[in-house]
Amino acid sequence: MGKDRKRVLITGGAGFLGSHLCDRFIKEGCHVIAMDNLITGDLKNIEHLFKLEQFEFYNHDVSKYVHVPGHLDYILHFASPASPIDYLKIPIQTLKVGSLGTHNLLGLAKDKGARILIASTSEVYGDPEVHPQVEEYWGNVNPVGPRGCYDEAKRFQEAITMAYHTHHGVETRIVRIFNTYGPRMRLNDGRVLPAFMSQALRGEELSIFGDGSQTRSFCYVDDLVEGIYRLLLSDYPLPVNIGNPHEITIKEFAEEICRLTGVELKLGYQPLPENDPQKRRPDISKAREILGWEPKVSRGEGLRRTLEYFKEHVESAPVEAKV
Ligand code: NAD
Repeated sequence: MGKDRKRVLITGGAGFLGSHLCDRFIKEGCHVIAMDNLITGDLKNIEHLFKLEQFEFYNHDVSKYVHVPGHLDYILHFASPASPIDYLKIPIQTLKVGSLGTHNLLGLAKDKGARILIASTSEVYGDPEVHPQVEEYWGNVNPVGPRGCYDEAKRFQEAITMAYHTHHGVETRIVRIFNTYGPRMRLNDGRVLPAFMSQALRGEELSIFGDGSQTRSFCYVDDLVEGIYRLLLSDYPLPVNIGNPHEITIKEFAEEICRLTGVELKLGYQPLPENDPQKRRPDISKAREILGWEPKVSRGEGLRRTLEYFKEHVESAPVEAKV
């Protein structure tokens, strides 16, 4: 039985999304190797897996040479700081993991004959002039703006992945992930949902950047993981958007979080960060057509499940400045 298990390497495995992917692939009967340097991740996210013999953890920076003994069937490259508060603090590491790290993992996939899926992002569309965003849209990114380190690393990541596909015949998959939320997000990672939830739970005012009319679409993590799983098993090498198309303004979202947590609505307005996208909504026609996928968890249900997690962790989380 052990010998027939698919062997899967998940980089960024101790992070928010990576840890949920570890759970899913263990559930699918795979042998999972999580690799992470813990720069933004936390071993607590995967400590429940350490007792399993089909789970291994390597503490390693994937921007350096990557070696994994034995064969590999799949590689999922999720290592990268993902929230602005992180990548603005460590822009060089962010650029390196998207470029050198991706190069290392594509080389590993080539050596092992493994299929590789890389985690791209809706940020490749920048501040989009096309709405909702379709995969064919090339984006509107400022390479030298503060977010350039993340957006351009991800754009390079897609380009080198396609080059390995066309020039070396490596089996590649590219997922463009839109804002995703759920348990194991860091409360202090600066993204809007953890910021609002922890502010509401602490009885503080909710920080709105700009006038709050900018929109986001939030996808629950279980839906995202299902989309990624289907994409990995598909034969489609071009980028696919995975996200929830139900768009909401940031102000409406703040109101929703206050209703859910049962606290009075108190809003504090702050200036909009530079190059902050005004609109964000995925066009998921491709995911529907190619993967038969669409999100199933309503925002109300997803937020209730996330709130349970945040309630347990709000006391222990340090408060950080928000970006
Ligand atoms: P996260 O910060 O929780 O997880 C990232 C993990 O990568 C962390 O555990 C971190 O320690 C690890 N890591 C970073 N640099 C590394 C390196 N050089 N070597 C080894 N490990 C390294 O973030 P997340 O939200 O789970 O995001 C995971 C991936 O998904 C990222 O690639 C991100 O760009 C992408 N993504 C996430 C979202 C989202 O909504 N969460 C949206 C779009 C794209």
